[in-house]
Formats: sequence, C-alpha cells, structure tokens
Amino acid sequence: ADSIAYARSLIRTIADYPKPGVQFRDITPLLADGQAMQTVAEALISQANSEFDVVAGVEARGFIFAGAAAAVCGRGMVPIRKQGKLPMPAHRLAYDKEYGHDALEVSPELEAGMRVLLIDDILATGGTLKAGAELMRLAGAELASIGVVMELQGLGGRTVVPETKALFSL
Ligand code: IMP
Repeated sequence: ADSIAYARSLIRTIADYPKPGVQFRDITPLLADGQAMQTVAEALISQANSEFDVVAGVEARGFIFAGAAAAVCGRGMVPIRKQGKLPMPAHRLAYDKEYGHDALEVSPELEAGMRVLLIDDILATGGTLKAGAELMRLAGAELASIGVVMELQGLGGRTVVPETKALFSL
C-alpha cells in the first residue's frame, strides 16, 4: 500500500490543460520512475478479479500499462486502437463521444473465448473503457477484469463501468 501511495504521489496535476478549467493528470513522472512502474504493473495483475489469458490496452496511454502488466505476468498484449491505425483490423466498435463519434479496432490475435484483462491509465467519464469492453465482447472474448491506474472522482466513470478496479483515486 505504501508503494501505491508512492506511485500516486508521482502524478503531476497541470491546471488549465488542454483547455481552461481542466485539471490534467499527468502520468509522465510515474512512467519515469522504475520502482513505481514495477509496483503499478504488479498491482494491476494482482487486483484482477479472475484468471486471464491476455492483457488488452486502450490507445495510447493504456498501451504502456497493459504492456508492462503483460510482461510481468508472462501473458501477451493486444492493442485496442483508434480506427484506421491497425493494418489488419478484425473487429470494430463505433461509439459516441462528447463531440462526435469514434471507433475502436482490434486485430485477429484477440480470439473468441480468450479471457481478457482490459487496462487503461485513467477512468474519467468511462466512455473509453465502456467502448473497449464492448469491443472485447464483440470479438467473442470474455472480459475477466477491467483495471486502471487511477480513477478521477466526480466524472461518472464509476457508474458507467462499475466493475473497474482502480489502484487509487484522485
Ligand atoms: P473517459 O473515456 O472519459 O473515461 O476518459 C479516459 C481516457 O481519457 C483515458 O484513455 C485517458 O488516457 C484519458 N484521460 C482523461 N482524463 C485524463 C487526464 O486528466 N490525464 C490524462 N489522460 C486523461
């Protein structure tokens, strides 16, 4: 728990970025700290609800933690990307965002029946993880668990994806 508190202390808050009124949580200092990264990667594995075969991460910061967590437990990593980035997309999920819509894609390495640990860096409104979770189900995968490094309180994400586990909240 002390080492999670240490990781938490490395989150930098930038006021009015990317626009006035927003308190941006910057994970860059955490990424630069080897001890904190090791702690976070291991904790993302140990907080998972159940067994999983593969770790999936949402573009772009989710890739970092999904990759680290996958390496720690010796599982593979599957990137969930914005539409048009994967050379061989197998499944696509369109979703509505605050302004307009977007789509997420995954490659055929995510096979039906695989048990997935879905990872992102931050839970805010929950829109991203909800879409990621739906894409996993669309691919026929089994969502074993959803994990984030941190949850931002008061933005409603907890209601949208209530099964999400967070290492800490801000
Ligand atoms: P949501 O879809 O509203 O839950 O937003 C989560 C996504 O937005 C994650 O993929 C985060 O990377 C990103 N995000 C939201 N707020 C912040 C922040 O304060 N700092 C860094 N990334 C953020």
